Amino acid sequence: MLNKVDGGAATILMVGEDACQKTVGPAEAFDAVEQVFAAMASGDAWNFPVVRENLGHADAVYGFKSGFDRAGLNLGVKSGGYWPGNMDKGLTNHQSTVMLFDPDTGRLSALVGGNYLTAVRTAASSSVSIAHLARKDAKVLGMIGAGHQAGFQLRAAARQRDFERVVAWNPHPDMLPKLGAVAEELGLPFEAVSAEDVGAQADVIITITSAFEPLMMRDWVKAGTHIACMGTDTKGKQEVDPALVAAARVFTDEIAQSVSIGETQHAVGAGLIGEGDITPIGAVINGTAEGRQSDDQITLFDGTGVGLQDLAVAAVAAEKAQAEGLAGEVTL
Ligand code: NAD
Repeated sequence: MLNKVDGGAATILMVGEDACQKTVGPAEAFDAVEQVFAAMASGDAWNFPVVRENLGHADAVYGFKSGFDRAGLNLGVKSGGYWPGNMDKGLTNHQSTVMLFDPDTGRLSALVGGNYLTAVRTAASSSVSIAHLARKDAKVLGMIGAGHQAGFQLRAAARQRDFERVVAWNPHPDMLPKLGAVAEELGLPFEAVSAEDVGAQADVIITITSAFEPLMMRDWVKAGTHIACMGTDTKGKQEVDPALVAAARVFTDEIAQSVSIGETQHAVGAGLIGEGDITPIGAVINGTAEGRQSDDQITLFDGTGVGLQDLAVAAVAAEKAQAEGLAGEVTL
């Protein structure tokens, strides 16, 4: 238990970005995210309504993602948003902090930096989908996107299958060498190709862009491909052809988010699929729903990003940082 109660005073752990990086790698994030997806599907964990507001100041968008995992005993909130002017100040545009609370008393137990954890928990989400849905013999990893998140996605995906090479496309080709360097570090040959060729060659595709129109078309994707759509997390964003969503067996982290702000919003809006066609990945993890049904089937995971993922990895960071002497403490 993180919160040490001493009389009336409580000790709050302070876990900085550095401590998060030292304590939560792809393996820890995978386990935490897989467990919480399973808890969501069994009804033990749920996300609270998301708050997201334009501040009318510094062009910033600010909000809260929160929830409770009764199985993992994680209660809390990620607070943060997007400040487009930060880059000019030498800061990351996305800024967030996770607050964890003792579910038995409601007292604050930890403040955890959320910037690095957001990237690692998002990458864990697609890697959980690859672990459970991609063909076991997948050899070629395809990347659509080459921004901040893409390197994390590549690292986490590479752990799940014996990939032999990476093919990638990005709307801004000058960003691809940075992603290529990550592949090289992992010992994977890397080739920049057209988006169509990513579809033709890849057995697993990850899309992680800020696109508002389809970048991957139905006819480009081979039978048996697994595609993880990770960039669409807002109304209006879109990365793939709705016909591709309709052709696939579709999975998500949370159905309510998927149909409203996730990749399936377009296929559902066009009447190509309904909510009943979408399976929570947690049900596959729990063994209560089928995953991939044949080697020829296209599987598609819509990773929208839920607050419980943030709480799950923040709790691991706090526990490990405390155990390893990497956390500060204040008493309130
Ligand atoms: P980034 O700004 O570092 O990179 C943006 C990427 O999108 C680059 O590949 C860029 O070339 C591409 N891009 C930019 N504008 C585009 C446009 N108009 N059309 C097509 N592509 C465009 O961003 P990032 O941190 O790598 O995040 C990528 C996406 O992932 C964002 O949309 C972000 O909101 C989303 N995201 C999702 C989750 C989740 O849990 N699902 C979590 C974090 C971020």
